[in-house]
Amino acid sequence: MALSQVVGRLIGVRRHVVDRGGGGAARVPRPVEAVVVGGGIAGMSAAVVLAERGVRVTVLEAAPTLGGRLGAWPEALPDGTQRTEHGFHAFFRQYYNWRSILRRVDPRLGFLRPVPGYPILSAEWPTEEFGKLPPASPFNLLALLLRSPSLRLPDLRGMDREAALPLLSYHAVRTYAEFDEMTADELLTSLRLPDRARAMLFEVFSHSFFNHEAEMSAAEMIAQFHFYLLGNPEGLVLDAPDEDYATAIWEPLTRHVERPGGRVLTGAAATRLDREPGGWRVTTDDGTLYAAGHVVLAVDPPALAALVRASPVLGGAAPELVARMPAFGRPGPPYAVARYWMDGDVRPDRAVFSGVSRQATLDSVTLYHRLENESRRWAERTGGSIVELHAYACEPGVPAEELAERMRVELTELWPEAADLRVRELRARVEAQAPAFTPGSHAWRPGVRTDAAGLYLAGDGIRTDFPSALMERAAATGIIAANHILRAEGAAAEPVHSVRPRGLLAGRR
Ligand SMILES: Cc1cc2nc3c(=O)[nH]c(=O)nc-3n(C[C@H](O)[C@H](O)[C@H](O)COP(=O)(O)OP(=O)(O)OC[C@H]3O[C@@H](n4cnc5c(N)ncnc54)[C@H](O)[C@@H]3O)c2cc1C
Repeated sequence: MALSQVVGRLIGVRRHVVDRGGGGAARVPRPVEAVVVGGGIAGMSAAVVLAERGVRVTVLEAAPTLGGRLGAWPEALPDGTQRTEHGFHAFFRQYYNWRSILRRVDPRLGFLRPVPGYPILSAEWPTEEFGKLPPASPFNLLALLLRSPSLRLPDLRGMDREAALPLLSYHAVRTYAEFDEMTADELLTSLRLPDRARAMLFEVFSHSFFNHEAEMSAAEMIAQFHFYLLGNPEGLVLDAPDEDYATAIWEPLTRHVERPGGRVLTGAAATRLDREPGGWRVTTDDGTLYAAGHVVLAVDPPALAALVRASPVLGGAAPELVARMPAFGRPGPPYAVARYWMDGDVRPDRAVFSGVSRQATLDSVTLYHRLENESRRWAERTGGSIVELHAYACEPGVPAEELAERMRVELTELWPEAADLRVRELRARVEAQAPAFTPGSHAWRPGVRTDAAGLYLAGDGIRTDFPSALMERAAATGIIAANHILRAEGAAAEPVHSVRPRGLLAGRR
């Protein structure tokens, strides 16, 4: 254990238990049926926990493949078929709940490999390195302040330190009460940081949550700063699978759910919900009906709003849920993913994953041929490279190919040698499914439990009472939904964990 982690433990920067789990039978004492709508991280996490406790669970996934925004599918290329993904994902080490689900299929998490470094690139300023900080606060923050080329001592003197205190004082209730109506942009402006420090140290945060800081709640930014930097004892260390997500995650998790009798159905879109005596009935697009005592809706925000709209019964059974949907169902800005198969490679010292600050479109670069086995083999065979470019919050209405080209050109400003690479193949997508964390959104963000008995929500847009985000929030809410069902049916619940639930100075303010 690093020194910073030892000191961190003393001040509570460690893994915390938010639900001990247990409290019931190892398996449900009588037959219980549950339907989980959505086969992404949230839905499959719920299904794993339910299936293990003997619940007869059916997962209905609309797409032909599982995984949602962490999906992977075979892509036909001129020189053979390759598994392609929805995009590079960093599996941070404080993702305790998501990792506990993944340990079901790989107890040592051997498929996750550390991604060396976490540089932030800029065309204007020297690279900022997030990956080499001590793992736990307060040492990581002190090291950042001392080492960062983007923030010097005179900058700290000029900064409004009073305005910075909320960043150190995250509290699940007070932070939202005080800062949810403010934008992240207003909060950052109030710090009076030099433009460079703001760009290199803070702006990457809001974009990584698929939101522009001018449209993102300041409370959410404080929460994410706490979750990723200040309350987290594991460090800003990125791990990533060395195989595609279908091979490493979705195929083994499907077997895990099916072994005790669960069903995982793809190409099965839920179109409406109705009441049944003793529970619910879910209809799918081919007219099949699935009856169950419990339903978990683990779909993305626009899909949840559409499903609620298409289910008139919820007007009477879950009026509060219905009332939240018009605001909740509006996703954040579109995001774009472009995977380029190139002739030739970029410089050998370029990082496997880099964040990008202040380019108009480009937010990150991943060198897949240095990350994943199948891509590595393709690159060795052809002498080429596979470069994936992401824009996490881009201009609406721009076609995917145009965004891909803008990102490629912006990359050449950062890495000039990229201009010499000839494009062999491109797969580009633009989508809008990520939750919006707009100012005031905490008031209408739904939690896992709805106002209808036996109906639960899960996903990365669903509220948790402890710090969580993205993949970790999807997994945590899936487990919490399963726990509600297990407790109602007399079976043992699953433990749920968190980073330090409050900011270091939360007690002082
Ligand atoms: C490009 C990109 C990069 C990312 N990078 C990271 C990262 O580095 N780290 C990180 O933590 N997170 C990252 N994320 C975010 C992460 O992918 C999400 O937080 C997470 O996958 C959300 O999981 P979910 O289960 O809540 O939702 P989803 O993955 O959206 O799953 C919902 C599922 O429901 C299905 N569905 C929708 N409607 C219906 C219906 N009517 N019937 C049946 N099924 C339906 C969908 O097809 C989908 O499979 C990234 C996301 C993207 C897009």
